[in-house]
Amino acid sequence: MSTKTTETAGMTGTADMNDLYGRAALVTGGSRGIGEAVALRLARDGADVALTHRDSEESALQVAEKIKGLGRRALVVRADSADPAAVRAAVDAAAAEFGRLDILVNNAGIGVLGPIGEIAAEDVDRTLYVNVRAPFLACQAALAHMGEGGRMITIGSCVAERVAFPGASLYATGKAALTGLTKALARELGPRGITANLVHPGPIDTGMNPADGPGAEYQSGLTALGRYGRPEEIAATVAHLAGAQGRYITGASIAVDGGLTA
Ligand code: NDP
Repeated sequence: MSTKTTETAGMTGTADMNDLYGRAALVTGGSRGIGEAVALRLARDGADVALTHRDSEESALQVAEKIKGLGRRALVVRADSADPAAVRAAVDAAAAEFGRLDILVNNAGIGVLGPIGEIAAEDVDRTLYVNVRAPFLACQAALAHMGEGGRMITIGSCVAERVAFPGASLYATGKAALTGLTKALARELGPRGITANLVHPGPIDTGMNPADGPGAEYQSGLTALGRYGRPEEIAATVAHLAGAQGRYITGASIAVDGGLTA
């Protein structure tokens, strides 16, 4: 295995470029934001990567081109996470394309915020379908393809640990549910050599939560480091969990939040 010093978006670090060589990953919501950074990082570390999207086809295809530019295979699947059949089909398509599936990253998510009295029942359904049911079904479908060394990694949120602002009841409900899923899967799948972990981002500069958006200064101030994180900083932790270095980590909720929950 070769180790190289690499630089991504101003971050310098060492990454084992072959750590994930020969492995296959599926990243839901890989067309932009954190999912894009995760897809590119896994590819940079050697994996073939499938990514799902709902609306952003052009952006998803661009991510796929970048993955191919890294010498890896890429697959783009349009799959609305709110649709159970589409979620299962995306997992099966990734496994069929690459002949295996080793890493599942449940990243696609939506954030509907507002006072609890003003949240519509349809928003409750849609949020829990996308943020909870889809990761559950994707893990279930991935099991059919995953063996020893499999990795299930889900993107939660720091709001599952600390709800630092009003209006997050729906989002926090869904993200907290992922802790139960992850811990239960870690126990159930441990004997098969499959790990399950959660990564809890703090405020990360993406389309969902731009660092120059309303409330951004407040969110920066909640962190110990006094700033937003970059998608690549979440991707680095996902890559660690996906690679050989992460093989003894399971059932964990890892905060990558600049100290927001400290
Ligand atoms: P973005 O809004 O920037 O990107 C969301 C991604 O998810 C896109 O690729 C989008 O696809 C996809 N997506 C959304 N809804 C669906 C759906 N119904 N079906 C399929 N794909 C869908 O969000 P982030 O990158 O910021 O967030 C990624 C994850 O990180 C989410 O789970 C979020 O809750 C979590 N998170 C983010 C934080 C932040 O501050 N940014 C903080 C804590 C957690 P498309 O482009 O096609 O719409």
